[in-house]
Amino acid sequence: MGETREQLEFDVLFVGGGPANLAGAIYLMNMAQQAGKEIEVCLIEKAESIGSHSLSGAILDPVALKELMPDYLDKGCPIEQAECRDEFYYLTPGGKLRVLYTPSYMHNSGCHIISLSKYCLWLGELAEALGVMVFPGFAGTEVLYDADGKRIIGVRTGDKGLDKDGNKRPNYEPGVDLMAKVTVFGEGPKGSLIREVGKKLGIFEGKMPQIFETAIKEVIEVPDSNSFPSPDTTVVHSFGYPLGLNTKGGGFVYKMKGNRVALGFVVGLDYEAPLFEPYQAFLSFKKHPLIAGIIQGGKVLQQGAKTLPAGGFYTMPRLAVDGAVFVGDSAATLNIQRLKGVHTAMKSGMLAAETIISALEQGDFSSATLGEYEQKVADSWINTELYAARNFSQALSQKGIAKFVTIGAQYLSGGRGFSDPMPIEDDSTTLTKLQNASAAPAESPQTQDLDGKLYLDKLTGLYLSGTSHEENQPCHLVIPDKNLCMTECYETYRSPCTRFCPAQVYELEEDAAGSKRLKLNPSNCLHCKTCEIKDPYNNIVWTCPEGGGGPKYSIV
Ligand code: SF4
Repeated sequence: MGETREQLEFDVLFVGGGPANLAGAIYLMNMAQQAGKEIEVCLIEKAESIGSHSLSGAILDPVALKELMPDYLDKGCPIEQAECRDEFYYLTPGGKLRVLYTPSYMHNSGCHIISLSKYCLWLGELAEALGVMVFPGFAGTEVLYDADGKRIIGVRTGDKGLDKDGNKRPNYEPGVDLMAKVTVFGEGPKGSLIREVGKKLGIFEGKMPQIFETAIKEVIEVPDSNSFPSPDTTVVHSFGYPLGLNTKGGGFVYKMKGNRVALGFVVGLDYEAPLFEPYQAFLSFKKHPLIAGIIQGGKVLQQGAKTLPAGGFYTMPRLAVDGAVFVGDSAATLNIQRLKGVHTAMKSGMLAAETIISALEQGDFSSATLGEYEQKVADSWINTELYAARNFSQALSQKGIAKFVTIGAQYLSGGRGFSDPMPIEDDSTTLTKLQNASAAPAESPQTQDLDGKLYLDKLTGLYLSGTSHEENQPCHLVIPDKNLCMTECYETYRSPCTRFCPAQVYELEEDAAGSKRLKLNPSNCLHCKTCEIKDPYNNIVWTCPEGGGGPKYSIV
């Protein structure tokens, strides 16, 4: 638009305030201080505060944290439970079967239960104390390139104060161009900037499709008298009901400090049934006798949802280009086999930091120099973990008993199994067409009894996520072909966005003449990205709303 924008220059710009970038920024500052170098480092985060868009299981393997700061306990690391004692169950509709043998990669001994939002807030404070300029409330909305369009030179933050039609409101503030010798993208799963980098620089070319799972999570306050199945247990994982064995996913309950539990349910986004609704499955999980017994009499304190990258090794993009590197969930470093990714994300950020300090010394920020980060990842325990799990998500996608046979074969063969690599299907391609479209309901019936306290409808859960956005801003959910929604998608799949979105952003409404149309409530958005991933027509593009909007997680 030819607008003059303020430019700020840094040595290193971290985009995103999750564990990968926070660990990377801390490690970088520590190394610079040890070398007696002064560097200008900036970290931006679209959330209102660091941690308020961070949600995960979360069981933390402290392996990377110990490398980053061996004295993390003395530094006040917020830990909910110091030690994990696991139980693993197969659930039937009314019963349970405890799985007495689980592979070693599923054991959580030595790990901590944390709240990821609290953990990131803590890391953010440490980064700031080391001199990192931390700017929450600033969303990166555009990647900046040099004149040749090949080298990344920074990121533009989003304009603030535009109205719904894109006109300037009185409080309009143009975005700022944050220029950096190296930009570190740690946007989390399905980042909107890395999507554009992928299109321009081809970092996903030759890789298997990025695949995801959606997690819905709550923190619940339970009566003192409630207990886990065994007194020592702090971690319950389950599979089976309500998904059965043909849909990937499962649930968890973790003990937190005091009388709180973290409860979550994860669904693989390669599910096939168009009328399936992850939120309804989440409620069914909560009502299973095993889970209901743990949470009975409780009250939900906070709810949220997020996707997680499930593809791992074969889906990792190229990790470095001229002027930039990619870390954490942006780089698909989560280990789905171990059901955790904070440790691998942190390690990737730290390895990126090692590479960047060397690049700063050499004054060379080319992909050849920054590409050393790729080699460091390949030589690290990240690679050891992810390589062993390289076909695991594909095995989970198999139907029925075949998945256990394949997982067993992979376990005995170091991850190879019966074929290597096993193929991966893009999540947007897996919905099956309705068999009898004319008989399918316009909307799924709500079959669950809800009490507004322990069992919540989507909007009550949304309220407890603290989500808010400036209402008068351009819609951040871009639907390029609105016509397709009612002519094709409704007829073929009954508008699955109205079901897979956990925040009731998409609704069907009818006009006086009985014509249906899709109505959007973008200010409900939890930034989980499920819609962009699962839409069968790839007709939803998630863009970043004004910085500071979205959920305000503090304990999940
Ligand atoms: Fe998630 Fe999309 Fe719904 Fe937002 S609109 S909550 S990103 S599914």
